[in-house]
Amino acid sequence: MMNKLEQIYEGKAKKVFKTEDPELLIVDYKDDATAFNGEKKGQIAGKGVVNNRMSNLLMQMLEKKGVPTHFVEEISDRETVVKAVTIMPLEVIVRNISAGSFAKRYGVEEGIVFDEPTFEVSYKNDDLGDPLMCESHAIALGIVTAEEIDQVRKYAFMVNDALKEFFLAVGLKLVDFKIEFGKTSDGTIILADEISPDTCRLWDVETNKKMDKDRFRRDLGDVEETYQEVFERIKG
Ligand code: UDP
Repeated sequence: MMNKLEQIYEGKAKKVFKTEDPELLIVDYKDDATAFNGEKKGQIAGKGVVNNRMSNLLMQMLEKKGVPTHFVEEISDRETVVKAVTIMPLEVIVRNISAGSFAKRYGVEEGIVFDEPTFEVSYKNDDLGDPLMCESHAIALGIVTAEEIDQVRKYAFMVNDALKEFFLAVGLKLVDFKIEFGKTSDGTIILADEISPDTCRLWDVETNKKMDKDRFRRDLGDVEETYQEVFERIKG
């Protein structure tokens, strides 16, 4: 049995604790929600439970498909043991359909289905508002090597293929998503952070209803209910 020792981090949606094992941490998911770089704050009742359990289910599925992840063991509704990593300060975003900042940046409508998924990275830096980042700039700043960014891109597309198929089977279109990678003490790159309706855009196949954090960001209502429904669908 793993015990939570001192808290080492508290983010917008999670707390992270040390354990007796320096290679392992415990993540504790909260119901707090933020959007627009922390400008909008709120709570989504039950979100922590949904995001913890959903993320764990998806990470285990991805492991089977050959993507290494930080998942070790779910120890409660909200808590999971994960491998300790140094998070790369990159938000890795894959898109299948135009939405959000893509639609805004290029002045196009949401819902354009791309022939091929896109890949982009943002610099994970709250003070700067997570700006879009050229890969060569990430290399110049020493955030990743050219080999590492190639590996990250390869994993990101593997994650997209697996998630797209998985969500389609439960009537959800995977519009786009953000993932984060970390490095273990031996330098291995693994998928970390979470995969949840906070970090993916999911639209109902039949109705195109937004089934993700856009309900909170855009005050569309049914926020709690939607998180629960996504989880009900995927847990099978
Ligand atoms: N995303 C995220 N965290 C962020 C920014 C984006 O999880 O800090 C997710 C978001 O939920 C969406 C995808 O990444 O699924 C693409 O987001 P986008 O760049 O369109 O930005 P947004 O419209 O969320 O500002």
